[in-house]
Order: sequence, then structure tokens, then C-alpha cells
Amino acid sequence: MSQVYVVDAGVLFSTWTKKIPDATLVTTSNILSELHNKPSQFRSEILMVINRMRAIDPEEKEIHRTTDAASQSGDISVLSENDIELIALALKIKNEGKKVTLVSTDFAVLNTASHLDIAILDPSGKFKEQITWVRRCPACKYKSKTPSDDIECPVCGTEMRRMSLRKRKMS
Ligand SMILES: [Zn+2]
Repeated sequence: MSQVYVVDAGVLFSTWTKKIPDATLVTTSNILSELHNKPSQFRSEILMVINRMRAIDPEEKEIHRTTDAASQSGDISVLSENDIELIALALKIKNEGKKVTLVSTDFAVLNTASHLDIAILDPSGKFKEQITWVRRCPACKYKSKTPSDDIECPVCGTEMRRMSLRKRKMS
């Protein structure tokens, strides 16, 4: 069974795809439309033409599952719709029983995917720990376990900050 790599816009901006010449690449149509500079557009078009890359979009059920996981990990407030879709696409491929790795340099994307037990790869090598985020009030120290909902402290009204509740080393 061949390995499928789900790639982020940041990865398509780079020349990382040249390092894995035999792998199958997929991304979403919205990620492709994020590519505005000519060299990365050109590289992506070539990859599509030679059938090494395809654009696939996830379904509602995977988007819901990803949104839930991002709420639980505390990443939801910093993820774009395109980010959510990309993670949902990796989840869809994983659920089809294929070997899939999500390649991104975006920590929130990598973190949410790791909470969904999706294999991840950070070409920059900087993502080392899975984090569960909470929001904490810097004034009265109130902690919110639902980081997506509370931006202002419900106790004193101060703007809350994101802080890590738990960290787990990635193997
Ligand atoms: Zn407070």
C-alpha cells in the first residue's frame, strides 16, 4: 500500500516535494487557490499534470470531527477554514484505511492532526510536542476548558490568553 501525503500550502511553497519523488500527494482545492506565487503554482501544476498530486475535498462528517478535535485541543481559534479542511482530508483518507501523513509547518494544523491520531510530518522539524491548550485570564487566573468560546474572562471581563494545559512529546 503506497503512502499518501496530504500537503499544506506552506509545503507547496517550498521544494520539499522534490525529496519524495515517488510519493502520492493530495491537497484540497482551497489550498491550491492559496498559492499565489508563480514558482509554487507552476510546481503544483506540474505535479497535477504528471498525476503525482490530486485535489480532493473532505466531506461534512470529517469537517465536523476535525472541528470537534480542534475545540478539544484548543487550536480552533487559530485555524482557518482551509486548515480545518486539510486536516479533515487527511482524516478522510485515514478512515479509508490508507497510509496517510499530513505534511505542514503550521503548529495548530500539526497539533490538531496529532489529537486525531493522524501521522504528521513537519519539514521544519520544529514541532516536537502535542499540546492541549486552555484559555487563562491573566488578571484573576480563571481557566477555561472551552477555549473556542471564551475570549473575555467570564469572571472579570479581561481578555484571556492561550496557555498550554498539557504537553506530550512526539515520538
Ligand atoms: Zn478574570
